[in-house]
Amino acid sequence: MIEVYLDYNGSSPLDPRVGKAMWPALAEWYGNASSTHRFGRRQAAAVEDARARVASLVGGRPTHVIFTAGATEANNLALSGIVASRPTDRSRILVSAVEHASVRETARWLSDQSLAEVDAIPVTSGGVVDLDALEALLGNDVLLVSVMAANSETGVLNPVVEIAERAHATGALFHCDATQYAGRLPFDLSDIGADLVSLSSHKICGPGGVGAIVTAKSSGRLRPIIHGGGHERGLRSGSLNVAGIVGFGAAAEIAVKERVQEADRIRPLRDRLVAELKCGLSGVEENGDINYRLPNTANLRFSGTDAEAVVANMDPVAISTGSACSAGAIEPSAVLLAMGLSREAAFESVRFSLGRFTTDEEIEIVAQKTVAAVEYVRAMNQGEA
Ligand code: PMP
Repeated sequence: MIEVYLDYNGSSPLDPRVGKAMWPALAEWYGNASSTHRFGRRQAAAVEDARARVASLVGGRPTHVIFTAGATEANNLALSGIVASRPTDRSRILVSAVEHASVRETARWLSDQSLAEVDAIPVTSGGVVDLDALEALLGNDVLLVSVMAANSETGVLNPVVEIAERAHATGALFHCDATQYAGRLPFDLSDIGADLVSLSSHKICGPGGVGAIVTAKSSGRLRPIIHGGGHERGLRSGSLNVAGIVGFGAAAEIAVKERVQEADRIRPLRDRLVAELKCGLSGVEENGDINYRLPNTANLRFSGTDAEAVVANMDPVAISTGSACSAGAIEPSAVLLAMGLSREAAFESVRFSLGRFTTDEEIEIVAQKTVAAVEYVRAMNQGEA
């Protein structure tokens, strides 16, 4: 049985080179990176090396990197940490309607606690943030605008430069969740004009449970949300996850060197998969603007199916649906709904996300398996199977 993994946007496999780089930190070194003895200093030096590598992933400064336990925490820190510093004249934050749950739910929590007023920035039917709508929402009471660089479900890219410009024109800060983007395409925080950028290691073939916020300037306005011993310049207390951070650094370094050629290799594989599915099946539609998306992602709607059933029938091929389990009930993807898809259409949609280790042969297997799974589920739905 050949397992095929096409769920890189969910979590990517550890690159063996990253595993190798992590090994001494896992098995040989020990001691708290804050300790001043030689064991601690060795840990701290490894962390500082990694900090420089992570900074270069987004063109930032090493001293502006704050390590966290992942992008979820980074997003919580960006929103809550900026709101906590709030100047009294700015009470609103704007988040796009297609943000990851860690942005949307933090915004909702801030609103529920009456810490900020929150407005969702609508997206077009292609899943791109609507710049006119953003413009209409902006005002001099807006503290922060949060828009992701690339969407995890559709791969659709946002016009982040234009968004940053508009946010700055009214004096707002711009937070960009680059979790899905930075490992896949070149990203430069100062070219974009992002004030805060969120990252996650396990989306770039690094280990899970580690991420970062990178700030453009010294993080003057940011306040901590985790309090304790004052690690990470007082912005994220807690003894550092040295092995994880070393792995994140190694993964970032590889991504910086290889992301352009990797994108050039993966894009045609993704396009071939989509072409084969459109050729082999009727009723296939792509969700999201196909001219403006990550090279590795395709979100496809197979009409007359149920995505959960398609995914279940794909085993041992791993793909994913964007639906989420909420209070025991399966809810359709909030991203697809925000793009104007009906609940029915959202429930028919699945995501294929390729990556560093995806091969030609795997694409063939996935194409065949998907055609068979979709035909089977359609037949079941019509009571024929
Ligand atoms: N933001 C985006 C865009 C993501 O895709 C994800 C992971 N699905 C996250 C944030 C959360 O990342 P982590 O798993 O590191 O908490």
